[in-house]
Amino acid sequence: MTRRNWLTAAVALTGCGFRGAPVEQRSKAVEQSGTGRLTEAQWRELLSYAEYAVLREKGTEPAFSHPLNSEKRAGQYNCAGCQLPLFSSAAKFDSGTGWPSFWEPLPAPAVESEADSSMGITRTEVLCHRCGGHLGHVFDDGPPPTGLRYCINGTALRFVPHGGSQS
Ligand SMILES: [Zn+2]
Repeated sequence: MTRRNWLTAAVALTGCGFRGAPVEQRSKAVEQSGTGRLTEAQWRELLSYAEYAVLREKGTEPAFSHPLNSEKRAGQYNCAGCQLPLFSSAAKFDSGTGWPSFWEPLPAPAVESEADSSMGITRTEVLCHRCGGHLGHVFDDGPPPTGLRYCINGTALRFVPHGGSQS
């Protein structure tokens, strides 16, 4: 085994953890898949525990727990899994719910919606168009001009400030 292979193996073994794999590694895996629809084993390697729980197991982060809830800078919100651009800061508003909220997604292809009847109530689930990752839900009590409220887990997003690097 060459030194380079050793390093690659070490990264693969430690990939799943609190931070997950770096953005470049996620983008490469999505590119190689051709579709962004990776296997659950691949997602386990790439995503952090929290990201996996939200994106792949449809979990919900605690309200007011994610720093992106109070993010005010201009920029773009990408899918934390596959890096597809999903929302713009121009459509973000403070809903007071404790989750990042938007009144519209970026133009298609960005998000998909699907009826969700879990927890005894019917809601509309919002998913990433490319990787199918769970992002949150959309409700019809949002502000103008759409009247929609995309209630999104900050954990499912990666913020890219305008003119800056990803954070
Ligand atoms: Zn995605």
